Amino acid sequence: MLNTSNRGDCMVTRISGFYKNSPEERLEIIAKQLNLSTEEKNTLLGNAGLSVNVADHMVENAIGSFPIPLGIAVNFKVNEKDAFVPMATEEPSVIAAASNAAKQSAKGFFTSYTGSIMRGQIQLTNVIDPYGALARIYENKEEILHRCNAQDPTLVSLGGGAKDLDVHVIDGVAEKMVVTHLLVDTKDAMGANAVNTMAEAVAPFIEKITGGKAILRILSNLADQRIVRARGVFENPFSGDKNVQEKFIRAAELAEADPYRAATHNKGIMNGITAVALATGNDTRAVEAGAHAYAAITGRYRPLSHWEIGEDDSMIGSIELPMPVGLVGGVTASHPVAKVAIKILDVESVEELAGIIASVGLAQNFAALKALAGEGIQEGHMKLHARNIAMQLGAKNDEMDKVVELAMKQGKISYDKIKEILLSLQKNNSNH
Ligand code: NAD
Repeated sequence: MLNTSNRGDCMVTRISGFYKNSPEERLEIIAKQLNLSTEEKNTLLGNAGLSVNVADHMVENAIGSFPIPLGIAVNFKVNEKDAFVPMATEEPSVIAAASNAAKQSAKGFFTSYTGSIMRGQIQLTNVIDPYGALARIYENKEEILHRCNAQDPTLVSLGGGAKDLDVHVIDGVAEKMVVTHLLVDTKDAMGANAVNTMAEAVAPFIEKITGGKAILRILSNLADQRIVRARGVFENPFSGDKNVQEKFIRAAELAEADPYRAATHNKGIMNGITAVALATGNDTRAVEAGAHAYAAITGRYRPLSHWEIGEDDSMIGSIELPMPVGLVGGVTASHPVAKVAIKILDVESVEELAGIIASVGLAQNFAALKALAGEGIQEGHMKLHARNIAMQLGAKNDEMDKVVELAMKQGKISYDKIKEILLSLQKNNSNH
């Protein structure tokens, strides 16, 4: 377990009206509770952050960086511990929706994690006796695991490493192939590099005992042995309005039965999950690939969450998905903003990180379904949407609030409407 805790005993993240502060004031509230240094504050404010030199070490042909807004979701309590949740996203309403949903769950979220088991695949072709080969691979299990573990003494010293095998015979187009899965406990790392290194190192030995030819030697992003579950109870969120409650449940049911709806249902969940994964320097594509593949694991694409009505009109939400995220490895410890984001999250293990991320996904899903069952999502989106359009049209800082106010008053937010309002405002101003 990592020891990264840096907060005092009385951290409080249930803050009403947090959004009414300026960005600097919000940062100050968080910095005080988490003892952020001036340098860390400057990193978040964009005064320091990701230099082109660091970027050049991360990717090829670097020429700069692409900033994304970083916000904090408040009100989260996960496993009875308060958490400020950093979210990196360009989409308006996501952070507000998460914060608002979290506020509606008095006890917060409860989570569990299966452990950090990743699968590495070694694909073998040209095997004369695929089922005999499968048996020989299992007969050599201890030697295979030993060769894998020799690649990563650090991981093994932490109690991780290759733990087991799962061998499949796959009916390919041209021939039967033998695919060996290495089951590797990657502990606090996402683990792709660790697993890929093992898969490449052990492939020649597996070729020798099977007589086959290894082609792919890489992890699987369907991390079905690295599952996080979160549960949240939202107390009487519809103030006894059975009609909206009914619509909420029907909306969730459509996702169970209809992949067209399930895709959007899960996209809403991933709005929250990807934002926290990105903020913490994790591989968002790995998390997304795993989530969507898991959603389709029964052969039909389904929702990652479920909703039930509990006592006293409470809504019980639960979510289950693979969560291949790390606190070490990748850029989690080298991206300056990710490092501060992880400090803000104040987690000590990937189990905690995974639990918070799943809780945010569930909160996001609750917020979307509640809005859809009620006034629709456009109402909440409109103000920020109007701002974005005004920004696109080149509205200056002093024009922005007025344009948004006029558009909201007129009840119509569209590109053409905002353009008309902005032009008329600019014309008026130039006449004065
Ligand atoms: P890594 O190799 O940088 O770090 C993992 C290593 O850190 C471990 O092997 C171990 O030796 C060491 N370590 C130290 N402390 C540890 C702890 N407490 N727990 C676990 N390990 C500890 O990174 P990684 O996590 O193996 O790989 C992640 C990177 O791989 C990501 O950047 C991802 O984008 C990339 N990647 C992904 C894919 C994919 O998803 N298909 C494929 C290739 C690479």
